[in-house]
Amino acid sequence: MNAASFGVIDPATGAEFARCPLATIAELGSTVAAAREAWPHWAATPIDERARHLEAIAAAIETEKDSLARLLSREQGKPLHTAAAGEIAAALMWTRATATLRPPVDLLQDDATARIEVHRKPLGVVASITPWNYPVLIAVWHIMPALLAGNTVVIKPSSYTPLSTLRLVEIANRVLPRGVLNALAGEGGLGQAMSRHPGIDKVVFTGSTATGRSIMAGAAPTLKHLTLELGGNDAAIVLEDAPVEKVAAKIFAKAFGNSGQTCAAIKRLYVHERIHDQLAEDLARRAREARVGPGDEAATQFGPLQNRAQFTLVCELAEDARTRGGRFLAGGRPLDRAGYFFPLTIVTDVNDDARVVKEEQFGPILPLLRYHDVDEALARANASENGLGGSIWSANLERASRLAKRLECGTAWVNDHATLSPLAPFGGVKQSGIGVEFGLYGLGEYMSLQTVRIAR
Ligand code: NAD
Repeated sequence: MNAASFGVIDPATGAEFARCPLATIAELGSTVAAAREAWPHWAATPIDERARHLEAIAAAIETEKDSLARLLSREQGKPLHTAAAGEIAAALMWTRATATLRPPVDLLQDDATARIEVHRKPLGVVASITPWNYPVLIAVWHIMPALLAGNTVVIKPSSYTPLSTLRLVEIANRVLPRGVLNALAGEGGLGQAMSRHPGIDKVVFTGSTATGRSIMAGAAPTLKHLTLELGGNDAAIVLEDAPVEKVAAKIFAKAFGNSGQTCAAIKRLYVHERIHDQLAEDLARRAREARVGPGDEAATQFGPLQNRAQFTLVCELAEDARTRGGRFLAGGRPLDRAGYFFPLTIVTDVNDDARVVKEEQFGPILPLLRYHDVDEALARANASENGLGGSIWSANLERASRLAKRLECGTAWVNDHATLSPLAPFGGVKQSGIGVEFGLYGLGEYMSLQTVRIAR
C-alpha cells in the first residue's frame, strides 16, 4: 500500500491546508490495466445507456454541489459564489448537454455497386491531464465526451488543485461501473508517464504550450490520438464606434473573470486612439472598485492567484511594464498580505514588446494598446504565436463580423469574448493547440472512423 502524499496549499494564505494521496508509477500501471479491463464492456454498452449514466452523474453532482464548490473555492482560490454559480453550474450544464449528443452514421453511397457507411467507434483508454484554473469544469469537458463515446478514462488533475477533481470522480463513481473512470494525483512526471504509457490510446490535455509539446513528444512512439488545448494570448480590438459605457462592463468581466486565469480571457486590449483614454479610465475605475480577497468572504469578487509561480510571474510582468514606462491606472503591485494576492491592474503606454503583451499573463493585469488604423490593429493582434480566441467590439455588427474572420484564432467573438457553448467547437490554432472540444466536433475526437463498404 502506497502511503505517500503531498500538501495542497490554500492560495489565500500560502499555507498547506490538506494532504493529497500521491500516485506512484506502479499505480499508474495497475490503474491503466483496470481501465483496459473495463473498456470492452463499456464500449459495448449502448450509447443511450452511457448517456443515462452521464445524466445520473449530473444528478449526483447536484446533490453534492455545495460541498464540491467549497472544496473548489478553498484549493483554487476563486470566490465561493463563483465556484458554485459559475464553475459547478457550468459543469452540470455541460454534463447534461454532452449526454444529448449522438455521433452520426454517415451514408456516402448506396447504389447497385456498393453501400458505403462511415461509423464512429471508441478509441480505448483515454488519459486526461488538467490544469489548475477550472479543475472541475475542465475535468468534465474531458471526461464526459470520452465516456459517452465509449472510452474508459484515467484523469490526472493538476497537483495544485487535485482535491475537487478527486471528489468529482468519487461522486461519478457512485453511478459508473468499476474501472470506467479513474483518477490519480501527482505532478508532471506522472503526466509524462501517462503520455508514454502503451496502454493509453489517447491523451486529452489542457494546459500550457510547453507541456503540450512534451506530451506530444512522449506520445509519439505509441502514436496516441491527441487533443491539446494550450495557452492563449487573446487580443480584443475595440473599434472607434464602440459605445464605451456599454462595452466596458463586459470587457472588464472577460479580462478579469477568475482573476484573469482563463485560457481565453482578453489578455491584450487594442483600443482605437479616439476612445482609448475614456475606455482606459472606465476599466481602471472598475478595477479600483473591485473587491479582491479570500474566496470564503462573501464580499469577495476576485480571489488570489492560484499558486506562487503564477503570482511571481504576474509581479515580474508588472515590473517589466514599469521599467518600460508603462502607466498604471489601477493596481500594479502585489497586495501586502499573506497569500498570492495581486490587485486588478490596468496598464497603458506600453508597446507590443513589453512582456505583459508578448507573454500570456494568466493573471489580473490587462495592457491597453492604442491603435490608429484597424488593419494595423489586426496585424498586431495576429502577430502572436498563440491563436486561441479573439474579438472585435463595435456598434456595426456587419463590419465587426467581417473583421472578426481575419483574426487568426480558433474562436472569434463579436461584442463578446470567452463565452463558450457546449455545442460549438472550441480549440486553438497556431501554438494554442490541436483539435477541438464540445459538441459533435469534440465528441469526434474521442472516436475513430470506420468505413464499412458492402459490395453488391
Ligand atoms: P501546465 O502545463 O503547467 O500543467 C497542466 C497539467 O499538466 C498539470 O496536471 C501538470 O501536472 C501536468 N504536467 C506538467 N508537466 C507535464 C509533462 N511534462 N507531461 C505531462 N503532464 C504534465 O499548465 P497550468 O499552469 O496548470 O495551466 C495554465 C495553462 O493552461 C495556461 O497556459 C492556460 O492558457 C492553459 N489553459 C488552456 C486552456 C484551453 O482550453 N486552451 C484552458 C485552460 C488553461
